[in-house]
Amino acid sequence: MRRSGQWRWWILAGGCLLVVIILAAPPALHMAGTWLSDRDEREVLPAGFIDDASRMNATPVQEIWAVPGARDEAEHQLVDLLRRADQRNLPVSIAGKRHSMGGHVIAEDGIVIDMLPFDGMELDEETDILHVQSGATWGRIIEYLDRYGMSVGVMQSNNSFSVGGSLSVNCHGWQYGRPPIASTVRSLRLMRADGSIVTCSREENTELFSLVLGGYGLFGIILDVQLDVVPNERLQLEQFQIPIDNALEQFEQSIDAHPGASMVYARLNIIPDEFLEEAIVSIFRAQEGEIPALTDPDMIALRRVLFRGSAESNYGKELRWEAETKLQPLLSSAVFSRNQLLNEGVETFQNRSASSTDILHEYFVPRDGIVAFLGELRRIVPLHDGNLLNVTVRSVDADEDTFLRYADGHMFAFVMLFQQPRTNEGEEAMRAMTREIIEAALAVDGCYYLPYRLHATTDQFQRAYPMGGEFFDRKRYYDPGNRFQNRFYEHYGGRGR
Ligand SMILES: Cc1cc2nc3c(=O)[nH]c(=O)nc-3n(C[C@H](O)[C@H](O)[C@H](O)COP(=O)(O)OP(=O)(O)OC[C@H]3O[C@@H](n4cnc5c(N)ncnc54)[C@H](O)[C@@H]3O)c2cc1C
Repeated sequence: MRRSGQWRWWILAGGCLLVVIILAAPPALHMAGTWLSDRDEREVLPAGFIDDASRMNATPVQEIWAVPGARDEAEHQLVDLLRRADQRNLPVSIAGKRHSMGGHVIAEDGIVIDMLPFDGMELDEETDILHVQSGATWGRIIEYLDRYGMSVGVMQSNNSFSVGGSLSVNCHGWQYGRPPIASTVRSLRLMRADGSIVTCSREENTELFSLVLGGYGLFGIILDVQLDVVPNERLQLEQFQIPIDNALEQFEQSIDAHPGASMVYARLNIIPDEFLEEAIVSIFRAQEGEIPALTDPDMIALRRVLFRGSAESNYGKELRWEAETKLQPLLSSAVFSRNQLLNEGVETFQNRSASSTDILHEYFVPRDGIVAFLGELRRIVPLHDGNLLNVTVRSVDADEDTFLRYADGHMFAFVMLFQQPRTNEGEEAMRAMTREIIEAALAVDGCYYLPYRLHATTDQFQRAYPMGGEFFDRKRYYDPGNRFQNRFYEHYGGRGR
């Protein structure tokens, strides 16, 4: 009797194990397959070539010149370089981390200035103003500010970018209730094409201030900046998963019911059968108490495998959404430091394959246009077989500082990451899709973001940025020799060399 009872237990235990193995096998196999095939296949460029984060822009240049780190030496040598470029009539482009994707740091056969070594910083603890050189990246700045209990006011969702590159695109992030980064700039020093240095602020050289912020390196070299910074915070997460149709109302109710939201974003479902029908909304609220110490980001390998696995198959997309939604109850009420949330590099999810690349898109849509824009996204993306890897939605307050503005009023930013083949066909397909999505944004009085591929037609650029013509006229006024150039200028400014 006892022996047959034991057998039953063994059979039951074996059966359970089998069920667990059957259930766990597909995800485990999928993730193991992704991990094994995730090799770094990125090519080394031939000497004399430069590219950007798109890996679609390899271009020959005369010289890539790294600025020295010491201020006086840097300024002297930059003047010499501009003189040399003038004598040889070479265009000059300016590069930070080169994460723009449309050749914004590249002028063919020109000189590229690499600003990254110019990265000193000092915090004025009396005024909470950070004095920082333009080659510094957010990763280093966060590490520095954390020691003083301070944090960056407005920046992108990753820490990999330089201050000069961030100011020149007028970046924004998921800091709630904040306009783009220009709002945090007190003043900046700019080296113009003739080598002279001017200070620009809301009181001094005001027009140049508004042109340089969001000016894509066309007005001069940003040397250093006085940046308003904010206290670091202890943040508690509230997270909910909801059908997209109710998302905005529920989000607004939650914001009204519990004020104090500091960082906010929503991530949308990208599984083809449920495309853009559900959202996970994450609201981080400031809370009294000890701020967790700044550490290196964790679970990088696991998060990378989950993400990269979602690029290659619908099963991977389902698995990632499943993991994110299952994790959601565990994360609710978790506590983070503001600096920790900002301290994530782009490397975690970066595409390293030889055959494909990941391209960002971003559209700014006023509240009343969201439903129509989402409806169009649901139609356009599948129609073009767009391989959408990620969509986050953030809120951006009105920009009152820059000339070439993308947020005239309050906007919701739809940040979308697509994977595409690195082929002419892949590029053509992406161009056609991008133009349709831009039309959808324009139809609801929205706009698109400029640091990515230059797929918009000139007409679309002019409708999205009606001040664009005057922006380029002012560029030629401040830089009559057209010394500062790049592909963005050639494409929309209509005046390359
Ligand atoms: C994975 C990823 C995530 C992103 N997320 C966000 C986001 O959340 N929010 C957002 O707003 N943007 C985002 N972006 C876009 C990003 O903000 C821009 O591409 C930004 O320019 C990157 O900074 P960078 O240092 O790489 O600039 P670069 O690409 O090196 O340069 C960008 C522009 O700035 C000019 N420039 C650089 N340094 C100087 C200087 N010292 N003086 C004058 N001009 C200069 C260049 O000439 C160029 O026109 C993202 C991009 C990627 C690839």
